[in-house]
Amino acid sequence: MVAPPKKAPPEEFSWRITKHVCRACMGRVLMRETFEGRRVYRCSNCGIEREGRSELALCCCGIRFGKAQRDAGIRCLPNPMRTPECMSEIIAQEVVHSNQLRRREEAQPDE
Ligand SMILES: [Zn+2]
Ligand SMILES: [Zn+2]
Repeated sequence: MVAPPKKAPPEEFSWRITKHVCRACMGRVLMRETFEGRRVYRCSNCGIEREGRSELALCCCGIRFGKAQRDAGIRCLPNPMRTPECMSEIIAQEVVHSNQLRRREEAQPDE
């Protein structure tokens, strides 16, 4: 039999759950503050840990394109419709700008 460890593992900090999901696996992002006041973000699922000023260090809102580092337009949002296939409370979705949508509709009229 293996004796249980006496000391708590170093990961046993108190983490706060955020409304953001991991860009690698869609797991929920957790946050804690260090003694020095720095913020550490961690994925509750795959365990990636990164220091940063906001959830952007780890979550889908921080996804950037190419060399110019353009915003990919993806945001973490509350799941509007939770189904057995997608029970996640928070999902990542591409945010389409309404201006672009309107322009596209004008270019292709129905009649
Ligand atoms: Zn993850
Ligand atoms: Zn996010």
